[in-house]
Parts: sequence; C-alpha cells; structure tokens
Amino acid sequence: MEVCRRCGDLVAVGRRRWRCGCGGLLDLYAPEAGDPIPRPPEAPGGPWSLWRYRAVLPFAGDSSFWERVTLGEGLTPLIPAGPGLWLKLDHVAPTGSFKDRGASVMIAVAAGLGVDRVVADSSGNAGLSVAAYAARAGIAAEVYVPADTAPTKTAAIGAHGARVVRVDGDRAATAAAARRAVELGGGWYASHVYQPAFVHGVKTLAFELWEQLGGRSPATVVVPAGNGTLVMGAWLGFQELARAGRADRMPRLVAVQAEHCAPLAGLRPIGPTRAAGIAIAHPPRGGEVRAAVVATGARVVTVTEEQLDPAQAALARLGVRVEPTAAAGWAGLGALAGADPGPGPTVVVLTGR
Ligand SMILES: [Zn+2]
Repeated sequence: MEVCRRCGDLVAVGRRRWRCGCGGLLDLYAPEAGDPIPRPPEAPGGPWSLWRYRAVLPFAGDSSFWERVTLGEGLTPLIPAGPGLWLKLDHVAPTGSFKDRGASVMIAVAAGLGVDRVVADSSGNAGLSVAAYAARAGIAAEVYVPADTAPTKTAAIGAHGARVVRVDGDRAATAAAARRAVELGGGWYASHVYQPAFVHGVKTLAFELWEQLGGRSPATVVVPAGNGTLVMGAWLGFQELARAGRADRMPRLVAVQAEHCAPLAGLRPIGPTRAAGIAIAHPPRGGEVRAAVVATGARVVTVTEEQLDPAQAALARLGVRVEPTAAAGWAGLGALAGADPGPGPTVVVLTGR
C-alpha cells in the first residue's frame, strides 16, 4: 500500500497510480501515523550490491525481478579527504550517479507490476539511470529532457534504447510533458520525484555509511539538492536505523543548492547554473525536503557559480573527477566553515560524474 501525504488515504501500488486522487504525493508508509518502520538487517548478507538490504526495500514481486534488473549498484567507496572528512563516491555507480540506487529499486517494482513501458523526465542523470535499468529489465522507456540537456547525456540515454523527447522550456515544463504522455498514452510514470520506491532505493546510502564508519552514523552529511531525493533518502535511511535502535543519532543533513536556483533556501531563481543537475525551480517535495533538513538541525546552504570550478578542480586534485553538480557539495562545505560540526565524521556525497 501507499499512503497520501496530504489526505492520508491508502491506495494500492498500481500501474497507473503516481499520485493520490487528491493530488497529494504518495509514500510507502507513514511513520507519523504509527506505521511500523522496517528494520534494516544488522549483518546483511547476500549479493554484493544494495540488494543486500532487500529485506527493507519495497517489492512488487519475488526476487526474480530485482535479480533481472540489478547492475550491481550501491556499495560505493567511502574515502578519507582530511581530518574527520570523508567522500562518499556515489559517482562510482553503474551509470555514473546516485540515481542508480533509486532507479534500480523503482524499475524492479515496475517489472514486478508487469509494466512494459515507462515514462520518465529528467535533466540528465535520472533519465540515464532509468533508461539503463529499463533496458536491463526489457522494458521500453521514454525519457523527456529539457531541450538544453547536454548532447552527451541524451546520446547515452538513447544508447540504452530509450526514446529521448526534447521539450522546449524548463524542467517543470519537461515534467508536465512526461505526465501528459502518461495520461494520454499510458505507460508507467517512472518519476524519481513521485514514485516512493525511488527514495527507498536511495535510503541504502545511509545504511552503507553506517556500516562503512564501523557501525555509527556520521555527524554531518553534505549533499547537493535539486528535487531533494538524496536528502529524503538519507533522512529515511537514518530514521530507519535510529528506530531499529542501531544508530545513536540523526546526522545533520546539509543540503547544498546553486545560488542561481535555490528555492529550498527560499531564494527566487535568478538564472541558469552550471550545476544543472540541481537546477529545479519548483521541487514538488520541496516542503518535505526543507522540513527534513531543519529537523536535523542543519540548513540549506547556497554556492555561487564562481565556487563550482575551484571545487571541481580541488576534487580532481584529490584524484576524484565529478560533474559540477556533484562539486557543489564540496563547495558547500565552505559555507559550514566556522560552524561547530560537533564530534564525529563529516561526509560529502559525490553524486555524479
Ligand atoms: Zn490524498
């Protein structure tokens, strides 16, 4: 079952459903309404991928679905970058971004539902990830992208056999076009924002950090945020760890936005940014994302265009080559300078290459 965040209605996970009849966003369970929280396994075994946490991943079928879909995603390296500072290399993923965590789980759910065609909208990485996993699952894919999406990204999406549809207009217009296609022509809306299965895949990031740090949570986790799916995934994962009595604290979740497009920081968008992966002027789950950040005692910080190049270069000199969007997280670290991080490690998540 899925639950509506706005009206509380329960609806069956279904082929055509991507939001509640009231227009509200769906979640897989509602802890605030007393739903039991799944408990991540203490000593997970099984496959060397995020599917070792499959006991707490949503599922619309038996194991044959994820076994058919997986590309070995998850279990990315965590490397030191200074005293108390760590880099989580989520750009080391099958398609080059953390989106693989969510897309693998979401497409496994779609496969379990018997879906034969998915429709997605993306500024790049999510579309690439959905295209790859759909190809793996033998599901046809259509990916709607803003017309100014980098040709290298659209070529990669097309290489997986997905139909790429360029949309004149911004990211919101692209999403609207994809939803129109779903309503008119059918197909399953494989949205990394609306489908709750996606964020449940992303939550495995929290389980991994906890394991990699020797059974403790970081003090601070810094992530770039556009739609905020990584914030919500980390929030969900650390919450599940805490409720299972496994983690002693909820890390401060610091969300980093580009100053040119920082609605989560309460700023009016002022122009394009090189951090294109987080340029979302109207994030549908923005309220939830902001609330999660604030609840952890952190805040949304912004970085300027001028800070992106040096951040990207600094990471490269550490041996780590990432895209400008991912470098925003590293640049955001500067905004925390002077603030007391408290005891414990700080982790910067590198989201894509
Ligand atoms: Zn509703």
